[in-house]
Order: sequence, then C-alpha cells, then structure tokens
Amino acid sequence: MPVTLMYHSVAEYESDPFLVTVTPGRFRRQLNWLQQRGLRGVSMRELVAARRRGDTRGLIGLTFDDGYTDFATEVAPTLLRHGFTATVFVLAERLGGTNDWESHGPVRPLMTLDEVRAVAAQGMEVASHGLGHVSLPDVPVEVAAAEIRRSRSTLSALLDQDVAGFAYPYGHVGRREVDLVREAGYTYGCAIWPSAQTSVHALPRAYVGERDGAARLLAKIVKQRIVGRAPAVAR
Ligand SMILES: [Zn+2]
Repeated sequence: MPVTLMYHSVAEYESDPFLVTVTPGRFRRQLNWLQQRGLRGVSMRELVAARRRGDTRGLIGLTFDDGYTDFATEVAPTLLRHGFTATVFVLAERLGGTNDWESHGPVRPLMTLDEVRAVAAQGMEVASHGLGHVSLPDVPVEVAAAEIRRSRSTLSALLDQDVAGFAYPYGHVGRREVDLVREAGYTYGCAIWPSAQTSVHALPRAYVGERDGAARLLAKIVKQRIVGRAPAVAR
C-alpha cells in the first residue's frame, strides 16, 4: 500500500500539548515539497481504488482526523490550490461541537454539518471516526459495534453518499475492531503506523507534525514504504 500521512489540525497556535497542529505555512511547504517530488496527495477512497487497479504510482494518501473547522477554512482550500484531495475522518455525533474528549489542552471547534457537506461537494472524502471519539478496544463489544456501524449509517444519511472508510480513534485497534469494521461494510480502515494490525481494514499511516520539514518527511515516507512492502501485509 502506498504511503499515507496523518494530520489533525492546520492552524496558527500558541499551545499544542498533543502535537496535533501544523501551522498553515508549514503545511503549504509540505504540500509544495510533495508536489516537487512528483507526488499527488489523494483521499483514501482514490488511493484504495488506484491500488485495486494496480497503479498507485505518484500517489500519497492524505488524511485528517477529528474533522476540525480548519479543515474547511484552511486545509481544503490549500489542497484544492495544489490539485490535491484528502480524507477527513469526522465524528458522527460531534458535528458542530468541540474536541471535549480531551480533558485538557486547547478547545477546538469541529466542522458543522454544513461545512462537512461543503468539503464533500469540493471533492474531499468524508469518512468515519466513530460517534464520540472512544478508544474502541477499551469498551464492550456492543459499544464498539455501535460506534463503528451507527457512525457509518448516520454519516451516509446526512451526506447522502456512501461512507467507505473508518479511522480508529487514538489509533487503538485489535482484531475485534478490524472484524467489526469489515463486517460493517467499510471498504478500508486506517490505523497509525506502526500498528500490530495491518490489512486493508487497518492501514498504517505516518503521523505528520509541525517539526516535519523536508528531511523528516522524506524519512517517514521511505520508512513506511519499506515496511509496507513486507509480505506480512494482507490484502
Ligand atoms: Zn481522533
């Protein structure tokens, strides 16, 4: 599977205890750098389809977890200027809310339903991050199943389109969660690299942060590419 990058938020910031924010200037430089290397950032939907056709040359997956408002105001316009797309993983029961699952750190607004619909209309893929940002292996199976299934049906109804992907909150995933995601009808699932699970329902992604200049970004891409080639990766 080609390399996939994982972002959360693109914004100017004063405090970022969880290191999930990249400034707009850094983000633009990262996209310019990808473009100069002949890479085009695409949504997971496009990447998985390209993989099925057997030709993912020149593609790199771009993903954004949680669905922060800056995806609509900053990320999507910047991606469109580069001719890129991306996948944003939103929380079906938190649209228009905040990241209040974090007990400390800055409060950040999440996209409203109108904003989510607007980015979908611009060609961005909207996929599921569950209902309320729960660490799935830590809850009973009925709760995990509801997070996975109900978020898909809710988002599909709100957006009037199929929801193909799921990203595990906190990257926490075990065999049980992978099975639930596959059984719920998702085409793919996104974990965080390195992960104990690797399959199309637990694809590895490389974390990208503010400190990732050209050299560090290249190192992450090369590392994930080498590991991604290992025969242990199930299809
Ligand atoms: Zn998240």
